[in-house]
Amino acid sequence: MHSIFELFKVGVGPSSSHTVGPMIAAQQFINRCLADSNVSPYIARVQVKLYGSLALTGIGHATDTAILAGLSGCLPAVSEPDELQAVVQELRSTQRLQLAKGRDIPFQESRDLIWLRNELLPQHPNGMEFSAWGSDGDLLYSERSFSVGGGFVATEDELNAVAQGRLAEQAPTALTVPYPFTTALELLEMARSNHITAEAIVHANERTHRSEDEIAHGVDRLWKVMQSCIDRGCTTAGVLPGALRIARRAPQIYQRLSRGAAVPPSEWLAQHASDLSTDPLQHLDWISLFALAVNEENAAGGRVVTAPTNGAAGVIPAVLAYYVYFMHGTSAGIQTFLKTAGAIGLLYKRNASLSAAEMGCQGEVGVACSMAAAGLAACMGGHIEQIENAAEIGMEHNLGLTCDPIAGLVQVPCIERNTMGATKAVNAARLAVLYGDGKHFVSLDRVIETMRQTGIDMQAKYKETSLGGLAVNVVDC
Ligand code: SF4
Repeated sequence: MHSIFELFKVGVGPSSSHTVGPMIAAQQFINRCLADSNVSPYIARVQVKLYGSLALTGIGHATDTAILAGLSGCLPAVSEPDELQAVVQELRSTQRLQLAKGRDIPFQESRDLIWLRNELLPQHPNGMEFSAWGSDGDLLYSERSFSVGGGFVATEDELNAVAQGRLAEQAPTALTVPYPFTTALELLEMARSNHITAEAIVHANERTHRSEDEIAHGVDRLWKVMQSCIDRGCTTAGVLPGALRIARRAPQIYQRLSRGAAVPPSEWLAQHASDLSTDPLQHLDWISLFALAVNEENAAGGRVVTAPTNGAAGVIPAVLAYYVYFMHGTSAGIQTFLKTAGAIGLLYKRNASLSAAEMGCQGEVGVACSMAAAGLAACMGGHIEQIENAAEIGMEHNLGLTCDPIAGLVQVPCIERNTMGATKAVNAARLAVLYGDGKHFVSLDRVIETMRQTGIDMQAKYKETSLGGLAVNVVDC
């Protein structure tokens, strides 16, 4: 099994599959070259080829910036967004790639970063090929890797193993755990037979590789990053990068909802959340605001938590912020929320995909909605059947959701779509916990499989290629 800390990653915008994954893949490639004594001393040039969806929407998704940063040794979890920009700017202005301190090689972006928009590698729509060459033009080392969604990177061998049903022995990060659930039904049965919660199951599994402190601090850090992302998004005005010239909306909405707050939401809501407007639906506006704030930060290349992707990074923070600020949320509740949501996310990762290039937006905002619904249901005191029901509702009404970002930017429909995912998640949790007893007609396993089949059947033009839908029906500049 994967860890929830692989599912929730601190990263940078705007895309987990097109920014975070490629940066990690490029960094891993360069590290492997530098560690190999038959390669490292002789490298005179590196070249990167991008295939399929990465090539089609990579410019709008900052894949070029991510690749250059990764080749320069940066990683999304540790490098600050400003630092990444500075490294890439330096590379572009000098046309030299720093391999190590005091050692650089020429890098001409137009020659060494190749966009193969009409070519696809057979294993996955998000393919990359990295090559290192010697000074006499001999190929020293080459590898193909794939950004398979949610910032996860797989090698060619790993994807071939998946295709041949040899997944278990190949997955390098697979954990041996006390509760190895692979389906929602197994999760339900483990919870019932052991009289424990989904949160406790995830916690016990995480304990095989982490101390109590590491788990507690790891989850707290995720919330802190989400919270400061909301704060930054609510207080940063301006226009988002890219041809669409989209103005950020979150700061203005925050000012209206808070009636002119001079401090960020984390401070302001701590004092005022209980004496807000008498409009009974205003909580929905706050939830939408939180999601907008995160996704505007993501679109601007800011620091976000991949949850479970960057395009859908606003849904879970928005619902968790609603729990914290408006439901008197506690630290223990934050742990419950993210571990329960993580359990559901792992099911989608294992049994379908988090990649919009495979599943469309149902694999991003749909999955985030399902995870958030489960997390909130657990915090509302829902039992395991109600949690499973909330997760199922959260996906059932996102089935078929396409991915068609205008101009290849993670902005329209992405930013606003997160508000819909978040409010739908709250509705799903309330239906399941307040008005349901856990009995329901469609199981979570069935809906995950339906999402997978729908993703396979969906035409390629609706799967993160910007060749269909809004991307071709709206003039982009
Ligand atoms: S439409 Fe959905 S899946 Fe596609 S880039 Fe936007 S958020 Fe991601």
